[in-house]
Amino acid sequence: MRFRSTKSYKNQVSFKDAILRCLPPDGGLYIPSEAVDMRQFFLYMNDDTSFAELVSVLTPCLFQNELNPMAASRAAESAFIFEPELKILDKRHSVLNLYDGPTGYYKDFGCSFLASVLEELLKDDKRIMIVSASMGDTAASLAKAFQGRKRMTAVILFPRGAVYGLDPETFVPNGGNILPIQIEGTQDDCQKLVREMINDRPFAERYHITSSNSINAGRLLPQTLYYLYAFIKIKKEIHDDLVFSVPSANFGHLIAGLYAWKFGMPVNGFIAAMNTNNSFGDFIRGKPFTPKPLISTNTPSLDVANPTNYERLAAFYEESPSVMKNMVFPCSVSDETTVKTIEKVWEKYGIMMDTHGAVGFAGAESFLADDDSGSHVIIPVTRHPAKSAELIYKVTGKRPDMPERLRKLTKEAEPVAVIPAQLDLLEAAIASCC
Ligand SMILES: *Cc1c(COP(=O)(O)O)cnc(C)c1O
Repeated sequence: MRFRSTKSYKNQVSFKDAILRCLPPDGGLYIPSEAVDMRQFFLYMNDDTSFAELVSVLTPCLFQNELNPMAASRAAESAFIFEPELKILDKRHSVLNLYDGPTGYYKDFGCSFLASVLEELLKDDKRIMIVSASMGDTAASLAKAFQGRKRMTAVILFPRGAVYGLDPETFVPNGGNILPIQIEGTQDDCQKLVREMINDRPFAERYHITSSNSINAGRLLPQTLYYLYAFIKIKKEIHDDLVFSVPSANFGHLIAGLYAWKFGMPVNGFIAAMNTNNSFGDFIRGKPFTPKPLISTNTPSLDVANPTNYERLAAFYEESPSVMKNMVFPCSVSDETTVKTIEKVWEKYGIMMDTHGAVGFAGAESFLADDDSGSHVIIPVTRHPAKSAELIYKVTGKRPDMPERLRKLTKEAEPVAVIPAQLDLLEAAIASCC
């Protein structure tokens, strides 16, 4: 598949180059410049098809001639030792549990896929360095995905605060390939450093630098796969409209759904379920985008005031304006409604749901309240219930089980270095380790 910048139709690149360069030189973001038609494949898949089978058939489609089918299968196999789980709750609701990966977040899907695809793409190439800025949780997801991968060093920049869930044995000074660096600044400072480093071409080319932030198309595109998986699992049961209610922050998750639709998945709409940080809702409704100040909520992963994928969504709508009006429904969910939803889902279905999943569920409820076309809504649940254990205990009187792999992630670790938010100091710190 070919990619282009959100800012231009010229200078198309391969998927490999989009992954390796991460950001186009013109300051835009990479998006697919064409849609592959996957219908011929998934029309023959059904509820017996495993996620691994689906991924190994569809991955070569995403890469076309860049990755041979054997390599694509290998990448799929090494990325997904876990899989999504679709549960039909009743006529109108299903949940798509996306939290069975190594860190209990749905981001494990994108990180793991990117790491294993890079390993295949780089078979004969030089060593590369993958730089990302991430808050605690995604950092653990990235570290798990990249640890031990051949020919790659993963540099992870954190804002101030402790580092959790990383294993010091995997750090570069101890012979591993993970380099966690704490930046004396905010998450925005870290993001800015990543962009600056990619654009410092002499340095970026010397170390073969790319980024594994969600701006990388290699993390975005694999997210289409679990939408398609949900569809093949449920297609026999669906007689009316199919809608997904997506807990949204930077909108990578939702945009992946839109691409799944472009690739041929029959779907009628997407609910963009946001918490109180809902400035993007107005934009989706066709108004200019004006970010509002950030508010802290009980869904921290959704606390984003200025979504990084703004340009991708804008480009999507520029190509298909009617999609904006007819297929994407913004919805804002308060903390109070989130808690009430956890209670309702427990009482009605006996399911313990984390706050992020509950935002999606609440989005589904508000959509279904005004829906007269018999829609079925699938709610992707993006975080393991054990991550909301205290709140779930308060609401239901029961505590969700904490799997051993997630318990280990609560351990604190020391970063390899702590430095001010300055590009030259960061580059010096990296050069001294690698
Ligand atoms: C990142 C994240 C989201 C939102 O995904 P975006 O692609 O940023 O919209 C939802 N839930 C959880 C638990 C997350 O970590």
